[in-house]
Amino acid sequence: MRSKPNILVTGTPGTGKTTTSSALSEATHLRHINIGDLVKDKKLHDGWDDELQCYIINEDLVCDELEDIMEQGGNIVDYHGCDFFPERWFDRVVVLQTENSVLYDRLSKRGYTGAKLTNNIECEIFQELLEEAKDSYREEIVVAMKSDTVDDMSRNVEVITEWVSSWGAAT
Ligand code: ADP
Ligand code: MN
Repeated sequence: MRSKPNILVTGTPGTGKTTTSSALSEATHLRHINIGDLVKDKKLHDGWDDELQCYIINEDLVCDELEDIMEQGGNIVDYHGCDFFPERWFDRVVVLQTENSVLYDRLSKRGYTGAKLTNNIECEIFQELLEEAKDSYREEIVVAMKSDTVDDMSRNVEVITEWVSSWGAAT
């Protein structure tokens, strides 16, 4: 068993992964790894997708880049996808969920329009990330958390921090 756990924070864009992960990182001193930033900084992509307006992630390069650090433990991985990471990497998979109208406002504010906006809203309506998480990891480590308000976020950070503190103590 790792001396410190690895946590995956996933969910539709706009549900609060990055905000939650950085607050969680401050509370727990675990390392926050924002996959989007890593892909950009280390060029772990196959170019820019003009239609979707994002980098085309190279999943193999990302997994190679992170293997050693994930083996050590103590990481919070932040990404809007979860099916390509090795299952053994994670001790907890948190799926953030946000009510449609709230998410719509957040993504509009971020400048999302047209297909990019509706695709993400649909992704949330159909709970695609929760399904993906349940298909990719053992159900008992997957937790869905509501992320509509700042209070929700504080509570989520508290609950996960508690869980991190108890890591290794029980078993
Ligand atoms: P993601 O990383 O999942 O795309 P962000 O963490 O960037 O989402 O959050 C998107 C926006 O929504 C930010 O402006 C953030 O402050 C806000 N936000 C995220 N989660 C919450 C929440 N639980 N309550 C209120 N605002 C939130
Ligand atoms: Mn983010």
